Amino acid sequence: MPNGLRSAHRGWELANVQRLAVIGAGAKAAAICAKAACIRDETRLPIEVTVFERHRPGANWTGDHGYSDGAQRLCTPAERDIGFPYDPASYGDAVSRAMYSRYSWLAYKASSGSYGDWVDRGRPRPGHNEFANYLDACIRASGYPIVQGEVVGLTPTGSKWSIGVNEPSARRVHGEFDGVVATGPGPAAPKFDVAPGAVVYDSVDFWNRLEDARTACLGQPDEPVVIVGSGGTAAATASWLVRADVPNEIIILGGQPALFARTDSFFENRAFRDPDIWATLSEAHRLAFSDRLTRGAVWANVVDDLSRSDRVFYRPGTVSAARVADSGGTYVEYATSATPTAVSQEAVIVVDASGFDLAWFADLLPPALCRQVRDDIGAMRSGMDASTALPLAGAPKLHAPMLSQLISPSFASLIALGDMSDAILLPYIEALMA
Ligand SMILES: Cc1cc2nc3c(=O)[nH]c(=O)nc-3n(C[C@H](O)[C@H](O)[C@H](O)COP(=O)(O)OP(=O)(O)OC[C@H]3O[C@@H](n4cnc5c(N)ncnc54)[C@H](O)[C@@H]3O)c2cc1C
Repeated sequence: MPNGLRSAHRGWELANVQRLAVIGAGAKAAAICAKAACIRDETRLPIEVTVFERHRPGANWTGDHGYSDGAQRLCTPAERDIGFPYDPASYGDAVSRAMYSRYSWLAYKASSGSYGDWVDRGRPRPGHNEFANYLDACIRASGYPIVQGEVVGLTPTGSKWSIGVNEPSARRVHGEFDGVVATGPGPAAPKFDVAPGAVVYDSVDFWNRLEDARTACLGQPDEPVVIVGSGGTAAATASWLVRADVPNEIIILGGQPALFARTDSFFENRAFRDPDIWATLSEAHRLAFSDRLTRGAVWANVVDDLSRSDRVFYRPGTVSAARVADSGGTYVEYATSATPTAVSQEAVIVVDASGFDLAWFADLLPPALCRQVRDDIGAMRSGMDASTALPLAGAPKLHAPMLSQLISPSFASLIALGDMSDAILLPYIEALMA
């Protein structure tokens, strides 16, 4: 249908407006706003997007709100920007050209006068802070509104959603949305017991307390730092400690045998993006692919950086608890897959980088809907439709791209934000053209 978009929408003026809400002004919001704006501008289909953001656009990438120090670089190349892969088969040539000329990373660099410099410097991956500014610029350029405030409630009212928001001045309810997209990694999700007094940072607040962490390390240089996890967050934490020149040994404790590297290989990249390949895979095979190459992998450039430090070591083990020793120090207990007896490892600080609560938005829903999501995440994933809408009985469309590993391995990351936005917008475009 999409290539016929321009001719097929004759008479659209009579169609209802379709209104989509996006919770979080991050990478996914930027991709959805930009694509919807191009469709709106090129075809005049009346699609409206409202973005809700508790801090500022791109907040999680700035270093001011956890998740990052803002200075780290993206692991993925800049060209995997909010429109990648600019597939004209989705909504036609005009939309794809408009996306590229207005919202691509190259257009952003050219309009800020830094394109030549960026090429001269070997096209470096953007720093998180600069990426935040790019996302901000894209959302604003789309012309869609950003409501400043924290979303605290999602309520179905007939076939529409109402959204409760704590805005700076008051709590307000915004209504009549045909669909809602929940974005963002969510808060840190603790995976082991932490005794009172144990010095454990989670993977959000570590980045808010970097100086505390550094001072603690310098105060006890002979005690190792323990990082729990084996994915990108654990590696980014280790990378920061190396760059901050802490003298301590850094032990990464993860459930896998090693830190696995994700390389920029054609065959892997193709499997990420080719729906025909994806359609040939069983659910188990899809999950295995996503686990191995997204959650369980670290980009090779980051692995290379860590390998160059003689203070960083990886140890396989599953942590069950962080406790306080009689001496007052912190230690973790962990077991290996070969020897389930718990082993202790002392640490000056522990950073729990084992993951986030990707279903965080469930807590915004009324209790019965919240239970549908929380009680059976597996069923939510298996029953998700191609637009990443959850199979929620009695609710309008609620898209959860962060849980969409079975639909596509690339919708939860920055790998193909253009494909992700195409998939989410399709049911609304189809409704306008019906
Ligand atoms: C530090 C970090 C680095 C990453 N680097 C890469 C990478 O290099 N390549 C890659 O492919 N993937 C990367 N990922 C993984 C993944 O791509 C991102 O987590 C995800 O795609 C970000 O897009 P998003 O729009 O879902 O969320 P974000 O860009 O994180 O935006 C979420 C937004 O939601 C807002 N928000 C949250 N809750 C509420 C609420 N209740 N009300 C209002 N606003 C709210 C937040 O303030 C935030 O601005 C990284 C993840 C992290 C955490």
